[in-house]
Amino acid sequence: MNHMGRRQFFKITGGTLAGSSMALLGIAPEPAQAAVRQYKLAKMKETRSTCPYCSVACGILIYTLGDGAKNAEPSVMHIEGDHDHPVNRGTLCPKGAGLVDFIHSPNRLKQPEYRAPGSDRWEPISWQDAFERIARLMKEDRDENFVRRTEDGKLVNRWITTGMLAASASSNEVGYITHKVIRSLGILPFDNQARV
Ligand code: SF4
Repeated sequence: MNHMGRRQFFKITGGTLAGSSMALLGIAPEPAQAAVRQYKLAKMKETRSTCPYCSVACGILIYTLGDGAKNAEPSVMHIEGDHDHPVNRGTLCPKGAGLVDFIHSPNRLKQPEYRAPGSDRWEPISWQDAFERIARLMKEDRDENFVRRTEDGKLVNRWITTGMLAASASSNEVGYITHKVIRSLGILPFDNQARV
């Protein structure tokens, strides 16, 4: 424990007295405190998500400006690593750290596109049209090529003329469901974007 000398004691009590006397005279330090900068993300909406780039699947926090009021366009202003996420504990590699630019890039695809056979151009189509087209082509191919038994009678239930490429940023639950759906259709060629 420190021992306070007589001289130190008068220094401290004198300083405290001077401070409280200034406050009594109306010269309080409030204006200086009020000038402290506001936390820049205080008024933004926080959304938890996953970095879409690679199989590490780091947790991210997305900060959006715009409170849903009329004429207020929500816009992503800032993205940072999620400190509570068990994978990355708040860290991000340079790719993940640049996510906000990816979101606002004019080259970012926001809807499906279709290139007709022989065409040199991609045409935007609706999600509904894309899903219907994928479902129809899958059904046609499966009806034509599904193998229930091999020539020597072995039961295999396999369909190897269509493959599936899954996204690396899927959660465990999405990955589990994707695997179940694909295998239940009999598809064997199944890989993940994380390996590409
Ligand atoms: S921040 Fe980097 S390491 Fe993490 S998921 Fe994104 S690309 Fe992968």
